[in-house]
Amino acid sequence: MTSASQRQRRIANLRGRIAGPQDAYERCRAFPCKNRTTADRGEGLNRLYCRKHIEFYRRHGSYVKASYGAGELRPYRLRALGWLKAHGHELVVRSAVESVQRLYRSAGAPIAANRLTGLSPGDRANAAWAQLRKANVEPLEVVAAWLAVDLRIRDDLQPDRHEEYRQVQAAKLIHRMAGGMHKRWELERPDGKMALTEFHKHPVSRGRVLRVLGCQLQAACGELCIA
Ligand SMILES: [Zn+2]
Repeated sequence: MTSASQRQRRIANLRGRIAGPQDAYERCRAFPCKNRTTADRGEGLNRLYCRKHIEFYRRHGSYVKASYGAGELRPYRLRALGWLKAHGHELVVRSAVESVQRLYRSAGAPIAANRLTGLSPGDRANAAWAQLRKANVEPLEVVAAWLAVDLRIRDDLQPDRHEEYRQVQAAKLIHRMAGGMHKRWELERPDGKMALTEFHKHPVSRGRVLRVLGCQLQAACGELCIA
């Protein structure tokens, strides 16, 4: 039987949760973040995470785990490439390489990094494949990138095992391999001397384009696994 005092306590607790800052939905879920969720701040619809962690997730594919660095992935890439070369005759390897070649062929023309703004994630993913093709990145290297991330995750003592993290990490890696736009030209300064001007722009490595690229990569290479 519920006593009157218990009921009163429960009502007071409920009132507190609605009105007070301790409500679970008001604080970001990424432990130990103390920020308020965007919904609570009246700035968005996300009831679980704060602005900082939403941005982190868009960049890394995880709310808490940061991306693997290029140097960190390099030994795994080399190991994957060695394995692929030794197993190049196997049907599953040939099929992955052919899938990447198909993505290269169907990607259309490359788009300069400074013209990507406003395009759909699918168009941006195509632009990335076209850029890889233009940069003469071997399809085998792309397959190796997928396997490198798989090897790294399996070696990680605190991994994020969600599919999305794996996809985003592999997509970031091939995004980097595609390179960006690099221009150099000489410009005459007001004093008459010539100065070298450089312009570098890389496609922004965050958001839904990474999810699209990662899904395409997984569809192409997901059957492969280094034992
Ligand atoms: Zn947060």
